[in-house]
Amino acid sequence: MEPLTTRHHRSLAMLVLVTLIGAGLLTFAQPASLTVLSREGRKPLPIAAINSLDYVAVDDINTAFGTTSREDRLAGGLTLTLRGRSIVLTVDQNVVSVSGRLVNLPAPPVRRDNRWFVPVEFLPRAMSLLLDTRLDLRRAARLLIVGDVRVPRVVARVDAGTTNVAVTFEITPNTEARVTAQAGRLVVQFEADVLDLALPSLPPQTFLTGLTAGDTPNTVVLTTGPRYASYRVTTSQADAGSGRLTVDLLPAATTDAPAAPAGPPPDARLVIPSQAPSTGLRTVVIDPGHGGEELGTQGAKGTLEKDVTLSVARRLRTLIESRLGAKVFLTREDDRTVSLDDRSAFANNHQADVFLSIHANSAVRPALKGAEVYFLTVERADAEARKRAGDQATTLPALGGGSREIDLILWETAQARYLEQSAALAGFVEQALAASVEMSPRAVQQAPFRVLVGANMPAALVEIGYLSNAEQETQLASGTYQDQVAQALLDALIKFRGFLEH
Ligand SMILES: [Zn+2]
Repeated sequence: MEPLTTRHHRSLAMLVLVTLIGAGLLTFAQPASLTVLSREGRKPLPIAAINSLDYVAVDDINTAFGTTSREDRLAGGLTLTLRGRSIVLTVDQNVVSVSGRLVNLPAPPVRRDNRWFVPVEFLPRAMSLLLDTRLDLRRAARLLIVGDVRVPRVVARVDAGTTNVAVTFEITPNTEARVTAQAGRLVVQFEADVLDLALPSLPPQTFLTGLTAGDTPNTVVLTTGPRYASYRVTTSQADAGSGRLTVDLLPAATTDAPAAPAGPPPDARLVIPSQAPSTGLRTVVIDPGHGGEELGTQGAKGTLEKDVTLSVARRLRTLIESRLGAKVFLTREDDRTVSLDDRSAFANNHQADVFLSIHANSAVRPALKGAEVYFLTVERADAEARKRAGDQATTLPALGGGSREIDLILWETAQARYLEQSAALAGFVEQALAASVEMSPRAVQQAPFRVLVGANMPAALVEIGYLSNAEQETQLASGTYQDQVAQALLDALIKFRGFLEH
């Protein structure tokens, strides 16, 4: 009999696990299946992890491709047959014979629980010969593409503004698409057989209530919401081989309704849907500190922090756009007052992959100088986030029926789940800055900066120098120093992108 203590420990471990998942601190591997894309559409092919490799069961292959298999238990072999051709597998042999032709596998077939399993590479290497059809295994996307199917990669983004919502599709390779309006929805139809589709979760807004794969495998459906009145389509070349199509959802021109508040609506203020973990650096939000009535700190010669931060942010934007190919948004484009919470809300609404707040420092002691980098203090926010996120995990009714699990976390503690990535980001910023400008003795620090707390992505704050130091005030006001800082921040973001992509 199982001792009671073991069971107790097991349920305790489960509770801890559930709590961690609730806080979004653990992410599970993707569902264990390949999606098989063919002209007939898409179907799943289950994957099993064996010896930390991806395997597929032969009986699942039979179901997917119409092959039949026969086991020869005495010989320890299995034969897969289709239209008079055959593949012979042997347990413990990582070479298989396809109609007499030898094909290598990265690992041998495995026989387990009366089922045979082969490494996924079996599909492009051996099955393609049997089927006499190209099988393209795209491991990262967990796709198996059968035959000469046109399968562009389509990655959608949703940018929620106060007066519109823009849905942008990055299409690789560039593929024609057209948009048609139907009752309550817009249908984007691509000149393709099937789409290798990545759809984001929707930010809180009322233009768009659904973004889903369409009824046919080459379409995407935008379900429009109450604020939607019309749409506008623009296309452009993203870069060599890729195209971009943007569908702008617009409100009625005559609306007298007050403009939606910047950031999420008040009732959604406390909760934001979790996003998939970052896998790249596609959108950067730069936050030029202060602005408008808030001057920030001021140098003896009259240099204002709010002017320096905006100038550095603009220089950095230009560098990122030309060198990193990422989209860049500034929390303010000009000299205006923006609240701290609206700055992180802005980054969340743009689904930024990174948030960088730029400031200049000040101290009573005029000798203090050098740049400093901050990310959020761990302890309190972290503990709070775990506790409260667990309480808030909720199942929401999904549009079109059914329900979906959404991991809701509190707005105030959004940053807590990215502390590790933020720490890495701060490290890269410190390294890059140290290579070109003077650093303060305490170059990387943690502090509970309000502007970082609500950011639902890796975030850091940079103090690029001390305006209270005479020498540094001159530097901070100069284009040369501002360019050096911008260049260093770009270098840091390039490193950070590598870190995110591993
Ligand atoms: Zn400041």
